[in-house]
Amino acid sequence: MSLVRTQGIVIEEVNTGEADKILTIFTNKHGKIKAAVKGARRPRSSVIASSQFLVFSDFIFFKGKDLYKVNSCEVIETFYNIRNDLIKLTYASYAAEVIREVIHENMPSYRVLQLFLNTLFTLSETDKSPELVIRSFEFRLMSLIGYKPRVDNCAKCGQNKECLYFSFEKNGLVCSECDQGSSGTISISEAAVKALRYIIKSDIRKLFSFSVTESVLRELRIISEIYVRDKLEKDFQTLKFIDKINVKF
Ligand SMILES: [Zn+2]
Repeated sequence: MSLVRTQGIVIEEVNTGEADKILTIFTNKHGKIKAAVKGARRPRSSVIASSQFLVFSDFIFFKGKDLYKVNSCEVIETFYNIRNDLIKLTYASYAAEVIREVIHENMPSYRVLQLFLNTLFTLSETDKSPELVIRSFEFRLMSLIGYKPRVDNCAKCGQNKECLYFSFEKNGLVCSECDQGSSGTISISEAAVKALRYIIKSDIRKLFSFSVTESVLRELRIISEIYVRDKLEKDFQTLKFIDKINVKF
């Protein structure tokens, strides 16, 4: 067995045996891996904190034949405030659900990990709208994994015209002429276009440094829900729960 050292964040935990766990960890070197942790649920276990959902740690693993085994780990960040807020926790759980879907073992994913950690940090440490944080995360994630929406010129004719329609077929904004007779488009306000451009093109460190009105947020939500579902061909369950507890919508 060889030793592997990497940073990673727990994106799923499953209890096994009397006091053990199998963790799914999003690592910066090896993509998504599964790792067994012996005695993780014993009160005096040295890995009790690191083996919890959404805790980011420095791990040392033994790489076994089928599974990694956690040898030791040291907590870097717990995103503590997320755990004390049902809304924040639900949005963070949704982000983790999407990450589990798009990241695979041995997939180089440093930029996605950076986006995920920034998203959790913003949810935990600021009072920014969790819904806006997650919509920004979604569009940015889709851009990083090969589904970047086209938001400069018209995605159909390529001309530099005013584009106030979003085409799910063309993966981006289209002008009014190209909207004629097209199916799978919805109209979008100027303010929502501006927000979308900011989300997709801003420096990652400034991604969450903006705000929008409730109506723009609703537009972003409608587009991102359809876009993510279409591209990933999956209906995410945690999102259904968000719908029920987020009374604003
Ligand atoms: Zn056009």
